[in-house]
Amino acid sequence: MTMIRQLFAKYELDTQNAGIAYTLNMAQMNAQDMLTVDVDRIEQVYANIIYNAIKFSTRGCSIQVQAQIRDQPRELVVRVSDTGVGISEEDLPHIFERFYKVSKSRSNSGGSGLGLAIAKEIVQYHGGQIWAESRLGQGCSISFSLPLHRI
Ligand code: ADP
Repeated sequence: MTMIRQLFAKYELDTQNAGIAYTLNMAQMNAQDMLTVDVDRIEQVYANIIYNAIKFSTRGCSIQVQAQIRDQPRELVVRVSDTGVGISEEDLPHIFERFYKVSKSRSNSGGSGLGLAIAKEIVQYHGGQIWAESRLGQGCSISFSLPLHRI
């Protein structure tokens, strides 16, 4: 899907400059599948996820983006997995809350704690969902889904 390729390409320079390997793995899309989205808003979601992935990774880490199609309901699922610092079991359920930032020790890493809360609102407005999987010290995956329509 062109939108995903374009979103991916926009952050190649940032990841390259951060010394992070950045790869895209995209499933074959069906020509009849249509996404109806506000592209600027979806870019805001994607940018936030990527910037967090860069911020919480160090040189030599990697970020893998996967785009897959799921059935019932038919949807596009974009998953951004990094091999960075990860999130503890205790913090994980709260990262989509407004102003939530993980531990004081990371508070100098910048950010308002709003990014993922806004991302969640945007994704839900589009009829999709957003979720996270992570373990402290073992990287983080943030995924979001967007409904597909048949044309
Ligand atoms: P911020 O603007 O402070 O980054 P977010 O709402 O985007 O706020 O994220 C909330 C918190 O979730 C962050 O402060 C960070 O601790 C944690 N987080 C988000 N993405 C990642 C990630 N890829 N790796 C580790 N921690 C993350």
